[in-house]
Amino acid sequence: MQVIEDKYGRTFKTLRVSLLSTCNLGCIYCVQGDESLKLTNGAHPATSLPLSELLDTIRRLHAQLDLDTVRLTGGEPLLYHDLIGMIAGIRDLGISHIKLTTNGFLLQRLALPMKQAGMESVNVSLDAIGEEVFLQMSRRHSVQRILDGIDAALDCGLEVKLNAVIMRGKNDSQILPLLNFAFSRNIRIRFLEIMAMGHLHDQADKYLFTRDEILREIGRQYRFTPLDRLQSSTAGYWKTGDGHVFGVIANESQPFCHDCNRLRLDSHGNIYGCLSDNHPIALDKTDDENALRLKLEEALSRKQALKFTGSELSMLEIGG
Ligand code: SAM
Repeated sequence: MQVIEDKYGRTFKTLRVSLLSTCNLGCIYCVQGDESLKLTNGAHPATSLPLSELLDTIRRLHAQLDLDTVRLTGGEPLLYHDLIGMIAGIRDLGISHIKLTTNGFLLQRLALPMKQAGMESVNVSLDAIGEEVFLQMSRRHSVQRILDGIDAALDCGLEVKLNAVIMRGKNDSQILPLLNFAFSRNIRIRFLEIMAMGHLHDQADKYLFTRDEILREIGRQYRFTPLDRLQSSTAGYWKTGDGHVFGVIANESQPFCHDCNRLRLDSHGNIYGCLSDNHPIALDKTDDENALRLKLEEALSRKQALKFTGSELSMLEIGG
């Protein structure tokens, strides 16, 4: 099998699969105003491809790309009707690393069955630890429910990381409380610069809280030194004097497109080579190996060389 590679040496090794494009939180960077009223609350949206079709697509992509990692996302992947079947199906394809990104709302119940089905690690998105700020960011109550989910995941042996999108004037007060919580559980937290996506695509600047500002805030309480960046990592990491590690995903101020190895598959069977790209490439179950290869080459050619340039699609649609 000849490797699909671009002129910068980039290949696809990580597949992010958006299992569905609905969510049970209404985070203000994903969802605008009263659109959140349309959010489902545990319903199974009819628009996702059936499990067998999504799995078959993953199988065909793996045959071409020899994937290292599949990350399940959405929307909210824990709302997917047969999540456990999906995880077991991916495990049976022989893909080494199965990971998931979740808001953690349903994690307490699903952590153990996910682990038993083959899940290795979960990234939990948590933008605030204070209830009022959490409500402002996500339009839902109950930080405690997410913290219980995190503890359940740790208890059953899942690797856990936290992700927090920091928005100026909204939750920048939460950086140290979130960091202290992560350190208390001995887990890694990564702070994300806001990306110009969806309804914020032309006004993300006003909310951008940069990597340097995040580091300055952390420096009020901790001393830290940088760690070497791992190949294709989205985050830069630092280590505190007492050995805790935290990261910053700085799409804007420290872009990492140059060695990006991610391919996205949405819940309708479209692929995207780049988050900056608004144009879905539709896969068809009748595509033969050659047709699929051409589509993958096209997706790879759409990767930005240097940095994310913004997208009218929200992460909810394309998969975070
Ligand atoms: N529902 C799941 C969750 O909350 O983790 C998975 C999907 S969510 C879209 C995936 C990640 O994308 C979350 O960590 C979220 O904070 C992040 N995200 C969404 N929109 C973003 C934006 N405009 N800028 C930065 N991160 C964003």
